[in-house]
Amino acid sequence: MSNLLKNKSTWLQSEIETPLACSACGKTELLPKYTGVEDWTFGNTAGSWSYKICSNCASLNLAPRPKEEFIGRAYTSYYTHGASDQNDSVATKTLKRNKPRKKLRDYFKKIYVRNRYLLGKETPMLTKIYFSWKPNKQLEIDQLYRHVPALQHYVNQGVSPRLLDVGCGDGIFLERMAELGWNVLGCDFDVKAVRGCKQKGLVVELGGLEKFDGEQELFEVITMSHVIEHVYQPLKMMQKAMRLLKPGGILWCETPNANSAIHQRYGSYWRGLEAPRHVIIFTTESLKTLVKNAGFEEVHPLQRLNPTEKILAASEEMANGRLPGKIYRVRSRALKKIAKQIDRTAFRCPEAKEFITLCAIKA
Ligand SMILES: [Zn+2]
Repeated sequence: MSNLLKNKSTWLQSEIETPLACSACGKTELLPKYTGVEDWTFGNTAGSWSYKICSNCASLNLAPRPKEEFIGRAYTSYYTHGASDQNDSVATKTLKRNKPRKKLRDYFKKIYVRNRYLLGKETPMLTKIYFSWKPNKQLEIDQLYRHVPALQHYVNQGVSPRLLDVGCGDGIFLERMAELGWNVLGCDFDVKAVRGCKQKGLVVELGGLEKFDGEQELFEVITMSHVIEHVYQPLKMMQKAMRLLKPGGILWCETPNANSAIHQRYGSYWRGLEAPRHVIIFTTESLKTLVKNAGFEEVHPLQRLNPTEKILAASEEMANGRLPGKIYRVRSRALKKIAKQIDRTAFRCPEAKEFITLCAIKA
């Protein structure tokens, strides 16, 4: 695998730092977990990295890690978040080959989205029956709309709601929400992604939440999809989000889960590690605690379809010395069997799901 990285620039000692405390909880006892982890996900950057586990909260910390001012070098061919959002579902791809079923699915999806996300009405009976037959399809839609309240809920209060997507990538989620009637705003550190968003007519800032320093109570909803694991000071980020939300505002956050079943199976080859870009990997409990410490009062884990095949396939490629690229399903019968076992485990024990998805409310 190291051959894949041989032409990549190395890191100077002066560009590296060793965090002394856990980024999730601030406690200082970090124990060795993995060494010799490389950029096996994108092959962007050289370096042999280590992860340490916090003895207090069990989060994984990249330590040592590139200093924050140099980490940009590890993002030279990074994907935008919207693309990963779209490609979560293997099942969706399969259905595309089957037009009548796709038509049926699109029909019920439209009804569900209109009632759940636009009007805030109960799902009509026939649609309920369809989704009781295909529960994963409903989970997929809720994932696409990130479980936000119905637009009508705000309209009834005379409010034209504003949504901020932090790390908005190519803006596909912002477009979806704008289409529904939300006033949307995004921010991202990726220059190309921001340019693409602007070309689509979206309002997107280059950078992170520091763009809103000095401002408060601007948004009804703030979302962060696969962002917090890249952040050097996650508590500060959550505190900023707290300040930027209006009272009653909602934070939605999703990130890889350190306790995932696929992590247990693949160890340092787990797709979720993504050294050196993922500097902190939370557990459900450590993320909930962080969000509460930032001042949020109600924190709820959300149901999410487990992207088992995608993450399993990627981890398997990495364990076999190949960059995972854009593969979304496992090929061998043995791995399909393992994927089913993992799905059963994640169904029985949500703590073992691949991603932590939660929402929190500002009182
Ligand atoms: Zn900790």
